[in-house]
Amino acid sequence: MERAPLLELEGIQKRFGGLEVLKGVNLALYPGEILALLGPSGCGKTTLLRVVAGLEAPEGGWVLLEGKDITHLPPEKRGIGFVFQDYALFPHLTALGNVAFGLKGKDRLEKALKALDRVGMTLFKDRRPHELSGGQQQRVALARALAPGPKLVLLDEPFSSLDAGLRESTREEVRRILKETGTAALLVTHDQEEALSFADRIGVMRGGRLEQVGTPEEVYLRPKTPFVAQFLGRTNLLPGEARGRYAETCLGRVPLLEPAHGPVLLSLRPEALRLSPPGEGVGGVVVARAFKGHDLTYRVRLPDREVLVQEAPGCPYREGEAVGVRVEGFGVVLEGEAPKAVRT
Ligand code: ATP
Repeated sequence: MERAPLLELEGIQKRFGGLEVLKGVNLALYPGEILALLGPSGCGKTTLLRVVAGLEAPEGGWVLLEGKDITHLPPEKRGIGFVFQDYALFPHLTALGNVAFGLKGKDRLEKALKALDRVGMTLFKDRRPHELSGGQQQRVALARALAPGPKLVLLDEPFSSLDAGLRESTREEVRRILKETGTAALLVTHDQEEALSFADRIGVMRGGRLEQVGTPEEVYLRPKTPFVAQFLGRTNLLPGEARGRYAETCLGRVPLLEPAHGPVLLSLRPEALRLSPPGEGVGGVVVARAFKGHDLTYRVRLPDREVLVQEAPGCPYREGEAVGVRVEGFGVVLEGEAPKAVRT
């Protein structure tokens, strides 16, 4: 992207007592972009978001908004909207009152009504939070964050209190609203699917560091490390010997997305493997079969390891049957240490 970043984080460090929670985080967010911080519990996502909001002061590094150093500016002076779990709606105010609360000027009610309309909550404007469902409260909170017209909103697990069906539709709607208003968003989630479907880019965090930042396709299809490969869905980690465009592995030749040479660790998604009758491919035995409606996943024991294979729902093989496993997709060469379980 060529435009100047809206938000820049440079070498952000944060500790709580002896615990180093952020270990030098660098990140750029562009105008109108939705970026999801994804990572396991405790990796520092929320802390990073709170540093951007101004609710935590970092011990090291800078926060720049439109090129201006805001590292030590109080939250209310930053012009950033946020929907945080601990910044819930005011219980004694109506939906309209909540949205109008932070607005100034004669037209504040008009602005608040417009913001409520944008999230489809006009009919509920006179209700208090306890008279609204979780999803409706979430929308009011979003309207409140968007009403002043910020260039950036921070969202901390904004969909986590919604049930599965409502979560998906609310997500779609919020994405549409952000795109329509050209508002950039930095979002915290530990839900891989949410990050993949909602964000323009994903920053995968691990232990206080960003391990990879890229589009959903990049982090899913071209993970750089074993952690990113495993965190973004199921995968097979296989050691191999790369010879340019392919690698020799226990599954035979695996074509590579990028050429490489020498000993490598590969990520091979279950959908890159197929089952066939025994005799074709590498022989194994089905140890588990999980039908999930839209797909069918097999765990197959090969002579020296187990692999996951994703098949179409009609695939006939059952537990205990002998099968062949063939490679029908690409492997991705990973950097860094293999987790202990796959070391050979
Ligand atoms: P989750 O997905 O569980 O919310 P997270 O990635 O958002 O996790 P953080 O909330 O940023 O993680 O917490 C990172 C680490 O910092 C955790 O070990 C947490 O216990 C610790 N921590 C967070 N806030 C404080 C605080 N105010 N005082 C002391 N320790 C804190």
